[in-house]
Amino acid sequence: MRSNPEWARALAESFREAGALADFLGWPLPDGVETRYPLLVPRRLAALIRAQGPDGALARQFLPNGSETSLPGGLIDPIGDTAHAPTSQLIHRYGDRALLLPTTKCPVNCRYCFRKNELGAEGPFAPERDATFAYLADHPEIEEVILTGGDPLVLSDEKIGQWLEALAGIPHVRWVRFHTRAPVVLPERLDAGLTATLGEFAARFEKILMVLHSNHVSEWDQESRAAVRAFRGPAIEWLSQSVLLKGVNDEPAALAALFRQFSTDGIRPYYLHHPDRVLGAMHFYLPLEEGRRLYGALRDLLPGWAIPQYMLDVPGGHGKVPAFNPEAHAYSGRLLDRKGAQVDAPEQSTHP
Ligand SMILES: *Cc1c(COP(=O)(O)O)cnc(C)c1O
Ligand code: SF4
Repeated sequence: MRSNPEWARALAESFREAGALADFLGWPLPDGVETRYPLLVPRRLAALIRAQGPDGALARQFLPNGSETSLPGGLIDPIGDTAHAPTSQLIHRYGDRALLLPTTKCPVNCRYCFRKNELGAEGPFAPERDATFAYLADHPEIEEVILTGGDPLVLSDEKIGQWLEALAGIPHVRWVRFHTRAPVVLPERLDAGLTATLGEFAARFEKILMVLHSNHVSEWDQESRAAVRAFRGPAIEWLSQSVLLKGVNDEPAALAALFRQFSTDGIRPYYLHHPDRVLGAMHFYLPLEEGRRLYGALRDLLPGWAIPQYMLDVPGGHGKVPAFNPEAHAYSGRLLDRKGAQVDAPEQSTHP
């Protein structure tokens, strides 16, 4: 095993200081925002940001913005996760699946991050590995463990192997899922070592799901697309998740281009999240009504299989619901066509 793989070197060389990044980009960055919300941009991504310019979808997502410290509103824990955390590394809100947080580190600091107030917080993150595995072993209803964070792919292959080994020892855990942004911002991470590590465990779980987080086609270049396309295995399946973000992808054409590319590259569109009301990220927020209008327009631009589900994490700890039909089971009886006109529900139809 290589002790210092290429991806770890690339990550270590990332920009962490606003002055150096501004020099590289050739345009100024606001003063002092990064002391509240730390800056982290890998060099390769910085080159893409520079090529696209200061008003691009990349600059908006990854560069500090004065609004982070000046705009009022937003919550520290917008989705109320902490009420469902049996240990510091586990969130168990839905019966059959649980989130495991092996790290709080990421390969980039996204300015819109819904955990930005927790990840940037001072003070050590106290791992509770034994208590976490005791809880998992004690809860046979948990069939899927979702490694998130932070981003689990900032861990070494060895560490990832240790987590998977421990999970493989719990008989009721059938599926393992990774939620990661690394393939886009640090494609070097999808290397032979990781392929071998996951390959070792492919036979010990029914499926290993890689849920890739990406919000705009301009995050991708030939290298990252090729890395994802090459990273395949018998038990490995790629899904996508994206966040709707004001000023980044809040246009039907931008969303359609993204979902079309996921499909082209063998990534199944899974979720489009409505943005959370996050303290320090309110400049990315847009109303639900606006999001529903954008999402509705996708039906005319894409086939059904290329459209992810539009999801809302209801504030106050109510959990995830489909945002396009928040009436859920309590059906009002009203059915609207694509233009918003009321039409008969099937059971009211007068057609023969
Ligand atoms: C989103 C989420 C999951 C995964 O839910 P899916 O709908 O299966 O993707 C699990 N636990 C928590 C706390 C979540 O927020
Ligand atoms: S990679 Fe995910 S957890 Fe990390 S900063 Fe970005 S959005 Fe937040």
